[in-house]
Amino acid sequence: MHGRAVGGGRRRRGVAAVSGAAPTLGPVTLQVDLAPPAAAAPAPVGAPPEAPAAAGADAVRTDRAPSAPGLSPSRAADFGRCPLLFRYRVVDRRPEPASPAAARGTLVHAVLEHLFELPAAERTLEAAHGLVPGRWEALLADDPRCAELFSSDAERVEWLRSAEGLLGTYFRLEDPTRLEPAERELTVRLDLADGPQLRGIVDRVDVAPNGWVRVVDYKTGRAPSPGFEGQALFQMRFYAYVLWRTRGVLPKLLQLEYLGDGTVVRHEPTEEEMLVLERRVRALWSAVQAAARADRWEHRVSKLCGWCSFQSLCPAFGGTVPPVDPDAVERALGVRPDAAA
Ligand code: SF4
Repeated sequence: MHGRAVGGGRRRRGVAAVSGAAPTLGPVTLQVDLAPPAAAAPAPVGAPPEAPAAAGADAVRTDRAPSAPGLSPSRAADFGRCPLLFRYRVVDRRPEPASPAAARGTLVHAVLEHLFELPAAERTLEAAHGLVPGRWEALLADDPRCAELFSSDAERVEWLRSAEGLLGTYFRLEDPTRLEPAERELTVRLDLADGPQLRGIVDRVDVAPNGWVRVVDYKTGRAPSPGFEGQALFQMRFYAYVLWRTRGVLPKLLQLEYLGDGTVVRHEPTEEEMLVLERRVRALWSAVQAAARADRWEHRVSKLCGWCSFQSLCPAFGGTVPPVDPDAVERALGVRPDAAA
C-alpha cells in the first residue's frame, strides 16, 4: 500500500481520523490539519443547501430540472480527450458494450456501499465477500448484458475472485468498522448560471465531529504515476466544488483509494482551486457549445482509442460520422447547430 498527498494543501499541524467513530490507526489513517475552522462551524453534509460563503454565489441557480443540459467529470474528460467521443456519448447517447472491468468496478462499488449498512462490528472482509453474490445478481438484473461477459462459468468465477481481491485491498487501506460515513453514493447537482448543470455521484462523504468533510472515491484500477493524477483530481475537485457551492462547506480532504494497487492519493483543496475549477468548467462548456453550434466534432486520436466503442464511426479508423440530430444536440447541450437553428 502506498499513500501520497498531492498538491499544495496547507501544512499539517496534527492528526485526526475524519470519522464519527474513534480514530483509526491503520497505515492510511487520514491526516489533516487540526486547527479549528476559521469560519463559523460548518453545516453537516446532510444540511439543506445554503448560500455559499465564497464570492460568486449569484453564479448558482437551483431551479433547473435534473434533465437540464449538464456535465459530469467523466464527460468533461471525454470532451478533453476526444470531442467526437463526447458527442457519441452525450448527444447521441449511443449504447456501449459492457466490459468485465467496468462491471467489476460497479460490483465492487455496490458491495462497499452496502457494507456500511451492516452494524459497524460486522463490516468484515468475510461479510464483504458474502455480499458479492447478491450484488452480482442485482447487477445482472440491472444490466442483463453482463450475463454475456463470460464465455464459461470458470471465467465468471475467476472474475468474481478478482472482485474479491479488490475488496481485500480495500480492507488493507481502511477499517470500515471504525468509519461511519455521512453519505454513500451521493448524487450531487449544481446549476451554474449561464453554464451547465454540474452532476456527479460521490462514492462516500465522511464528516468529522468538528464538521470537516472528507470526500472519498474508490477506483478499481491502478493509481496513475505521480504527476499524472490530473484527471482523477479534476473529478474530486469537481465534487468538492459542487459540495462547496451547494452547502457552503469546502471539503477538508479529497481522498482517492486505488484498489488496483493499494495506493491512496489525498489532496486538501483550497478556495482558490475551486474558483480555478469553475473557470475551467465554464471554458470547457463554452468549447462544447461552440462545437455543437458549428456541428464540428473533432476526432482526436490517442492511446485511449484502443478502448473506444465507436471506432466503426470514427474517420481515424475508416468509419463515417453520421449526421447529428439537432434536437438531440439541443436536449443535451442547450444549443442547436447553426445550420438547423
Ligand atoms: S476511436 Fe479515438 S478518435 Fe475515434 S472517436 Fe474514439 S476516441 Fe475519438
